[in-house]
Amino acid sequence: MLKCIQCGYELEADPWVISCPKCGGLLSSEIKRRPLAISWSLFRTRRLGVWRYRELLPRVREVVTLGEGGTPLVKIGERLWVKFEGANPTGSFKDRGMTVAISVAKGSGVKNVICASTGNTAASMSAYASRAGMRSFVVLPKGNVARGKLAQAALHGAIIIEIDGPFDLALDAVKEIAGPETGLYLLNSLNPWRIEGQKTLAYEIIDEIGVPDWVVLPVGNAGNISAIWKGFSEMKRFGLSKRLPRLAGIQAEGASPIAKAFKEGRDVPLFTDDPETVATAIRIGRPVNWAKAFRALKESSGVTEIVSDQEIIDAQRKLGRMGLGVEPASASSYAGYLRLLEDGVIEREDRVVLVATGHALKDPDSSPSVRPISALNPRDAIDKIRRILNEG
Ligand SMILES: *Cc1c(COP(=O)(O)O)cnc(C)c1O
Ligand SMILES: [Zn+2]
Repeated sequence: MLKCIQCGYELEADPWVISCPKCGGLLSSEIKRRPLAISWSLFRTRRLGVWRYRELLPRVREVVTLGEGGTPLVKIGERLWVKFEGANPTGSFKDRGMTVAISVAKGSGVKNVICASTGNTAASMSAYASRAGMRSFVVLPKGNVARGKLAQAALHGAIIIEIDGPFDLALDAVKEIAGPETGLYLLNSLNPWRIEGQKTLAYEIIDEIGVPDWVVLPVGNAGNISAIWKGFSEMKRFGLSKRLPRLAGIQAEGASPIAKAFKEGRDVPLFTDDPETVATAIRIGRPVNWAKAFRALKESSGVTEIVSDQEIIDAQRKLGRMGLGVEPASASSYAGYLRLLEDGVIEREDRVVLVATGHALKDPDSSPSVRPISALNPRDAIDKIRRILNEG
């Protein structure tokens, strides 16, 4: 059953209905009754990943999968973990939502899919669409999509359209053309089936270490923060966990419509028409899922934090030196965490999970420039290495 989060209108699940037919509000897929069979011991008979929790996902005729989810939860401190979503099949958490939404679409006979994207949705959607035998159209903000993501969309055969302007304008175009009339199925995160897949990120955290005190994550279009909150809330409602975490939503200085408004105690975001940040995955001025995000932040006694591009890059470098390669948007989790720790909002005793949303390979241009030491020949190379070793 789908339910409008704004006016409460309920309707039968219909893949083509993406927003409330009564008021245009966001829809959420609701599980009315607790599925009888569910338990941790049942789930744990299956591989860790999105479909381990299939009783809590929409029923589909055929699962379109590339083995998404089941990502490493890497311990980097006494009470600090990184959920490394870069380990998903196309290198970001978007795969969790895409396996579910493409499976739902396939069951309804969808042939063509479309999304607006800062890059990772395009990469993920085109991979899953190809796997399902569908054609994909992606609309991107020209000049602001990281190189690896574009390469993925091309490799997976997407028809790529670029516009002059930010992500938000690309999404306007996609929303206008998508629908049953054109047969183009919309796969942005206002699609409630994507949220269903993405909520499994929370399930996996509980599955592995229980409910932490904090989950820290970047916020762009705000689908993921909504999904993660849904995941934690459902587990508690179904008696599979006992408590809830607090959420910390991090945005970049030049693209902080939610973080800024929430900090100031407002009820609606401070939209901007010209978002700007090195973290291109969260370069969004008008997040469509803002209403769900505000609810998640309020219900979780959550906080928001704003970090500068410099803090993001510094955090990315620090994670790199711990062996964790993440793209800039993902490093904002760590940058935000460091701030919140400094400000005493998060305490050292707290158990904290940072969500690292996408892989470093996505955005090679954001990594430090490569400055190799030239050697004339193998002998010279050996001499130069010896010298460095001797310097200590
Ligand atoms: C999509 C994305 C985000 C933002 O997620 P939202 O659901 O839009 O808030 C953050 N980081 C990366 C790497 C992403 O691909
Ligand atoms: Zn409504």
